[in-house]
Amino acid sequence: MEVLIKGLDYVVTQDDERRVLRGASILIKDGEIEEVGHVGGPADEVIDGRGMIAIPGLINTHSHIPMTLLRGVADDMDLFPWLQEKIWPMESHLRPDHIRAGTTLGVLEAVRTGTTTIFDMYFFEDVVAEVLSRLGMRGVLSEAIIDFGTPECKEVDECMALADRLVRKWRDHPLIEPGYGPHAPYTVSPENMEEISNRAKESGSVIQIHLAETEKEVAEVRDKYGKGPIELAHESGVLGSRTVAAHVVWPSREEISLLRETSTLVSHNPVSNLKLASGISPVPELVGGGVRVSLGTDGPASNNTLDMFETMKVTALIHKVSRRDPKAVPAQMALDMATRIPGDFVRWKVGRICEGYRGDIVLLNVRVPWWVPLHSVVSHLVYSARSTDVRYVLIDGEVILEDGRFIKGDEEEIFAEAEKASLDLLEKSGVGSLLKGVN
Ligand SMILES: [Zn+2]
Repeated sequence: MEVLIKGLDYVVTQDDERRVLRGASILIKDGEIEEVGHVGGPADEVIDGRGMIAIPGLINTHSHIPMTLLRGVADDMDLFPWLQEKIWPMESHLRPDHIRAGTTLGVLEAVRTGTTTIFDMYFFEDVVAEVLSRLGMRGVLSEAIIDFGTPECKEVDECMALADRLVRKWRDHPLIEPGYGPHAPYTVSPENMEEISNRAKESGSVIQIHLAETEKEVAEVRDKYGKGPIELAHESGVLGSRTVAAHVVWPSREEISLLRETSTLVSHNPVSNLKLASGISPVPELVGGGVRVSLGTDGPASNNTLDMFETMKVTALIHKVSRRDPKAVPAQMALDMATRIPGDFVRWKVGRICEGYRGDIVLLNVRVPWWVPLHSVVSHLVYSARSTDVRYVLIDGEVILEDGRFIKGDEEEIFAEAEKASLDLLEKSGVGSLLKGVN
């Protein structure tokens, strides 16, 4: 199967030289990029690229996809009442059908906003994997593990067994990379973190964990263990080149060194950190200290979207103003954090448009006012682009979004299923009665 994307205005390769090619075409053969440049000839499928630019599909390294169902149920609240009064009561009623509906909506949203690989850490992750594989979406999926259980498992051993099963079932799937999700050092004991990291290492699996998200968390962990959460996680064997540490808003200088030495991938989630008022992660220090930094949205209850274009723009802006330095995070750095840096972390060759890489490609319509004049493609991608500019999405060479149309399902049906599932959770948890406009 060959797909030819012909005559694009530009191709943003994200290769080592960060080349942006003008008037180029892309040939994809059996899911792999075969040629980029002046390619012609026949193909099974030809996409007319005029008026569009191609970028590598964006990679969202931290999310809780099924939380699309909890979008907007509680905003503008302090973190702990938000969790205790709204989020956790609703989550306690989650069943596979809710997860299926919420994940389908989330994948549709991710695809329409230009994401081709999404990291997820939640409950019923087997259902999440089933939905992603059916919709042709690439995912790095970790079963969440908490000492006192989750909506899917009563106690921690059961949670770990679920994660083991997820890994065994999905490890050979071409689009899914399964792993372990110890929630955070304030919900998982050092002993359990150690057990989880041993299991992950045995199978070479990914670990996803929340680290140093709030000042409160850091103070609590320090009180209890005499060290910070990142240091504690390191001593439990959690950090490493197969580990994603989400948030990292409040690391100590020593902890920044630990992240670098262990080659841990940080997932910076600026929109969630802003909305929950967690703080501003010291990204320039992390990058300057040699830490690998990528970007994530976090769950739609704390964002409220899975939009990586917004995340790139906020990343580039927030560090400028907090340092009063417009050079703090340049556009190219923000784009790298959403493409090639996390691309080097996953087991597939993604995050660049280069020969030998998988055909994960996003095409944006640039014949709209905010793209004109087009002097600097990368700068426009971060500061001017809107996710609604996305017209085509290919994952593993398969067209998932065709001229703005999601071809894996009916959008209205997906909306209706998600609305039904969300109302059911509101009703069962009693949270719905507190909301205006819900009946
Ligand atoms: Zn999170």
